Amino acid sequence: MIRIRRLQKSFKGKQVLSDIDLDIEEGQVVSIIGPSGAGKSTLLRCINLLEVPSAGNITVGSKSVSYQTNAKGKLTFLSQMRLSWLRTDVGMVFQQFNLWPNKTVLQNIIEGPCIVKKIPRSEAEAKARSLLAKVGMLEKINEYPANLSGGQQQRVAIARALAMEPKVILFDEPTSALDPELVHEVLEIMVNLAREGMTMVVVTHEMNFARNVSDRVLFMEDGKITRDGHPEDIFGNPSPRMVQFLRSLS
Ligand code: ATP
Ligand code: MG
Repeated sequence: MIRIRRLQKSFKGKQVLSDIDLDIEEGQVVSIIGPSGAGKSTLLRCINLLEVPSAGNITVGSKSVSYQTNAKGKLTFLSQMRLSWLRTDVGMVFQQFNLWPNKTVLQNIIEGPCIVKKIPRSEAEAKARSLLAKVGMLEKINEYPANLSGGQQQRVAIARALAMEPKVILFDEPTSALDPELVHEVLEIMVNLAREGMTMVVVTHEMNFARNVSDRVLFMEDGKITRDGHPEDIFGNPSPRMVQFLRSLS
């Protein structure tokens, strides 16, 4: 489903991702953990091309893009593909929800399907209603984001991502901005999605989710994936750096 080869990303000459290789199978739920600054968000943002990689190849489904930086530091885009084409297959849920504040819940959800995928409005609305029911937000369909709690906004953001029928959803610390008592309502929806077989890549500090829900855990440090395996193996046999990281969470 996702195939990443030799992915590199530098910001102003400072390497933030170094030669990442990663394969994610359809239906897999992958948690990415690691200390601040390890490159977790940058990796997610490169997968859906919110960040332009400095080098490497990214394939999602049958769509592929490659980048290369020449000796003079000039970036070359090696494929003739529009970024939006790959991005429609990759949903993203952000820490800060990122709903459009001047649009209602319904408008937030149908915007992508109607504008990008050119789906007729009535069809997009019907789909939005069923997704809002799924995340328990149907009764707020005409509200503006400012009138919703953080947990409610995040549930709408998940429905918005699902409305595009992505092949994979990337979550960047989806519960980190929530009041503690609202975390469970978002996690519950993520657990249900995982059970339904959605392919998910989740940067998280929720170790219970990483341990109990994901099929696979990646530990990142200094722009590299230094551990990759089944949660039991990763948590059962942590590296010294990971022990330090886990201690910092508690
Ligand atoms: P956190 O747990 O704090 O979210 P992270 O693992 O997600 O950390 P990233 O946000 O991917 O880390 O950042 C990795 C490194 O890249 C950091 O050193 C950060 O300062 C740097 N970085 C990220 N985005 C940019 C940017 N747009 N411009 C310059 N440097 C950046
Ligand atoms: Mg981050």
